[in-house]
Amino acid sequence: MIRTRIAPSPTGEDIHIGNLYTAYINWVYAKKNGGTFIVRIEDTDRTRYVSGAEEKIHQSLKAYGIVPDEGVDIGGPFGPYRQSERLDIYKKYAEELISKGKAYYCTCTKERLDQVRKEMQAKKEIPKYDKYCLSRQDEVKKTIETGSNYVIRLNVPSDTEVVFEDVIRGKVAINTNNIDDQVLMKSDGYPTYHMAVVIDDHLMGISHVIRAEEWISSTPKHILLYQALEWELPIFAHLPILRNPDKSKLSKRKNPVWASWYVSEGFLPEAVLNYLSLMGWSHPEEKEIFSKEEFMRVFTLERIQPVGPVFDIKKLTWMNGQYIMQMQDEELAKQILDFYKDANFDKNIVERSVPLVKERMKTLKDYENIALFLFERPTVYELDFSDKKDTLRKIKERIDSIEDWEAATIGEEMQKVATKEQIPFSKFFMMLRVAISGKKITPPLNESMEILGKEECSARIYNLI
Ligand code: GLU
Repeated sequence: MIRTRIAPSPTGEDIHIGNLYTAYINWVYAKKNGGTFIVRIEDTDRTRYVSGAEEKIHQSLKAYGIVPDEGVDIGGPFGPYRQSERLDIYKKYAEELISKGKAYYCTCTKERLDQVRKEMQAKKEIPKYDKYCLSRQDEVKKTIETGSNYVIRLNVPSDTEVVFEDVIRGKVAINTNNIDDQVLMKSDGYPTYHMAVVIDDHLMGISHVIRAEEWISSTPKHILLYQALEWELPIFAHLPILRNPDKSKLSKRKNPVWASWYVSEGFLPEAVLNYLSLMGWSHPEEKEIFSKEEFMRVFTLERIQPVGPVFDIKKLTWMNGQYIMQMQDEELAKQILDFYKDANFDKNIVERSVPLVKERMKTLKDYENIALFLFERPTVYELDFSDKKDTLRKIKERIDSIEDWEAATIGEEMQKVATKEQIPFSKFFMMLRVAISGKKITPPLNESMEILGKEECSARIYNLI
C-alpha cells in the first residue's frame, strides 16, 4: 500500500512553489501506484502561525489539481489531519517514551541552556544539551508538580551510527554524537515538528516520506524516534531544492515563490506542473512537454538527480506559451474569459480574437496587452496624427463605403486608399494600425478591424480626426 503525504505548515502567504513541487511528486507517486495521497497540516509552531494560510494552501493545491484523498476538509480513516487537533496523541506517546527511558523531562531555563551552549562553543564542540536533567529526573518531576515549566527531550544514545537508505541519495549515515537531545514536547504543550511528524507518519500509515532536501538533517533524529517507539521505518526520498538561476536557494527576493502568484499572472497549472516535473528529472525520451498522465506513466523516484535544479521563470514562460499555442481555440477562449472574469469581456469578441492572438500570448495575462483595443477605444496613440487629418478623412469615407465587412475586403479597400494617396503601404498601414488600436504592434489588422465592426472602426477614425 503506497501512502504519500505532504505536510505543509501554515506559516506563509500560501503554499511555496517548492512545496508545490514536493506535493506534485508525492501526488504523482501515489496515483501512479494506485496509492493514497494525504495532506496533513503541521500547525504546531504557534509562533510562526499565519491565520488564513491554511485556506490558501488548500485553494492553491486545488487550483493545480493536486487533490488529496485524505486531509483536513475531506477527512479519512486516520484523522484528524491537523496537528493542533492531535495534541492528546502526542502526549500519550511522549509519556510512553518517558516510561521506556527514551525521553526525559527537562526544566532547564533559557539562561542555563545559553550558558551550556557558550561553554561548548568555547571548547569548539557542537553545541548540544548536556543531559543535565536526565540524571535528576525525580527532582525535575517534583518541580514540575509545583507548576514549573518543562519540555520533554529525546534521550539520544551516544556514539551510535544512524544509517538510512535514501531513494534519491543512497546511503546516509550520521553518528549520534552529532545529534542533540531534541525537544519533543514544548513547554506550551505542543509537540515539536520532529515528534509530530514521526507519530503522524506512522499512525497515518505513510509508506514513503518524500520531502525536500532541507529536512534530510532531521531524518536521523526521526529514525531515533522510530527506533525508540519500535516502529518500522518508512522509505525516505529527499527531493532537490529548487534554485534561482544564480544557484541560490529559491527565495522571495529573486523569484515569486507563492503558487497562487503563478495562477494570478496567467500561468496555466498544467504548464507549471510540467515545468516542475523537469526539476532534477528528465523524460527518458528527452521530451520537454508532456501531460500529467504521461509523466505519471514514466516517472520514477530513482531518476531524480540530487543536484539543485534551476527554476527559471523565463523557461517556464516559454513553456506556458507552448501550452497556450497548442490549446484548442475554444478552450483558450474559455480560459481567457475565466481569467478575466471581473473585466466582463464580450464573449463573442474573445472567441473571434483567439486565433489572432494565440501565438503572441505567453501567459493568459498577455491577452489584455495584446487585445484590449478590441474592447476599449484607445486613449493614447503611438503616432502623431496632427498632419494626417486628410488621409484619415479618406480612410473614414472608404470604411463607410465598404459593404462586405470582412478582412480581405477591408485590406483591399485600404490598399486602394494608400495607392490613391500615394503613401507607401508599410507607412499607411502603420498609421491605420495606430489609428484603430493606439499601438504599433497588434494582431493582424484587417482581421482585428473585422472583429471591431464597421461602425466602430469608422467611429475611431472620426474621433481621431
Ligand atoms: N511541516 C514541514 C514543512 O513545512 C514538513 C516537512 C516534512 O515533510 O517532513 O514542510
